Amino acid sequence: MIVAIDGPAASGKGTLAKQLAEHLGFGCLDTGLLYRAVGRDVARAGFQLNDTWAAVAAARGLDPATLDDPALRGTEAGDAASFVARIPEVRAALLAYQRDFSRRPPGAVLDGRDIGTVVCPTADVKIFVTASPDVRARRRHAEFIARGVDVAYETVLADIRVRDARDAGRANAPMIAAPDAMLLDTTDLSIEAAFDAAVGLIKRKISHAGC
Ligand code: C5P
Repeated sequence: MIVAIDGPAASGKGTLAKQLAEHLGFGCLDTGLLYRAVGRDVARAGFQLNDTWAAVAAARGLDPATLDDPALRGTEAGDAASFVARIPEVRAALLAYQRDFSRRPPGAVLDGRDIGTVVCPTADVKIFVTASPDVRARRRHAEFIARGVDVAYETVLADIRVRDARDAGRANAPMIAAPDAMLLDTTDLSIEAAFDAAVGLIKRKISHAGC
């Protein structure tokens, strides 16, 4: 079984994906980390992010064992990721790893921007998680402060708006809800309430599929 979770930055999709994977006993892949790692590797190799050749080489040579790097967590890494994510060849290079992961038994939860549309268009369950930009910025800002990262709320909000526009506006695999995705707006939901709502959506979907 494949559960596809898409949505904008700081919508709560990452936390939700991890919780659902744990609940279901499935593997979990945060696909944003792949793009963040490509951005990191391009910079480490001494190239500019708009260097298509370097970005494609980094994507093809990506070592998934390096995805737990704390350097991938900040706003800069997210920004760099959304830059290299616009390059079609980078996306193509990361596709096989994501699809292989999605097929691992007993099941997988993947979260990103294009999981329900491009990576796993036949996923059993698709959820598109949203929340207002203001609430998302507050959440992300609180995470940074808790980790001791000193960043202004306004900077986080601006970053979220820029990334939303870049991710939704790109020609290749833009951030968009799949036509058959169920929408989950977490603006007014706690983490627990969002999890309960997602479990409810999954149960509903599975019981309909069984009819
Ligand atoms: O999810 P996260 O914020 O870590 O993603 C970082 C960036 O990677 C996104 O802003 C987006 O540009 C890109 N991304 C993508 N497709 C995915 C996951 C992430 O284009 N499936």
